[in-house]
Amino acid sequence: MLILRGTKIKKRGTGEVGCFCPICRAVTLYRANQVREVKHIYYVSIGRGEHLLDEITCSRCGHMRAFQPGQMVPSPPGSVDPFELASRTGPMSANALTQRVELESRVARKKLTGSERIDAILEPIAASAYANDQLLRTGRRTKVSSVFQLLLIVGIFASPIMWIFHVNDRSATPHFPLAAVIGSLVTAILLCIVIQRYIGDRHAVAPKIVWLLAIALQPLNPNLEEIEQAIQVARSQNLDLAMRLNPVAVFSAIQNEQRREWNATDRAAKH
Ligand SMILES: [Zn+2]
Repeated sequence: MLILRGTKIKKRGTGEVGCFCPICRAVTLYRANQVREVKHIYYVSIGRGEHLLDEITCSRCGHMRAFQPGQMVPSPPGSVDPFELASRTGPMSANALTQRVELESRVARKKLTGSERIDAILEPIAASAYANDQLLRTGRRTKVSSVFQLLLIVGIFASPIMWIFHVNDRSATPHFPLAAVIGSLVTAILLCIVIQRYIGDRHAVAPKIVWLLAIALQPLNPNLEEIEQAIQVARSQNLDLAMRLNPVAVFSAIQNEQRREWNATDRAAKH
């Protein structure tokens, strides 16, 4: 008898936490979810499962991050002071939060040293790997890639069957069907390789992530060399997102974001 069993991921809201958001560049309120891996038989959950991580979503910008169990202590909703909540529930102590906020005030006054600037560019990139994975999981690229992979699997099973039927059909043109079957399989495999290589998940950065990074980095107004340098540091630390991130794409997204802001300020001034 076929027993359908496996594991599934379950998320459960656990309240809210405070944390420094590297996109908003401020201490903000986050919604917290506990992510658990639960065993199932015929899709019926068995037990409470294993607590994999705590997922938090910034209430201002929607940026998602993940923390190891125990790093966050979510509180019931209703807090009004993000800083107080962050020092009580988040992974940073009140002291560390104060220092981070102080650093931020120096960003506004353009008083960062060269290495502090590189660290500040690196910060939102290092904090965005989880958000990128979550966005890709539900994104268009994943769906297109899955459809092609499904077609390839169907093709692999269907082709020999079709060929056997054809061989038994004496009226058919000899040799042509086998060549056609091999040809279409090779094309499908090549197509899958191209998809995996160029538009598959492994090589993708969700467009929303580039946009969020542009919002985060805009106050720093970095030049292309600084972005390249920060991404290089991230790559040397084996940060997966940095391997996929194109410095030029980040730089032009920042330029676009600045242009959009200037236009908005301009329009506001004219009214
Ligand atoms: Zn935020």
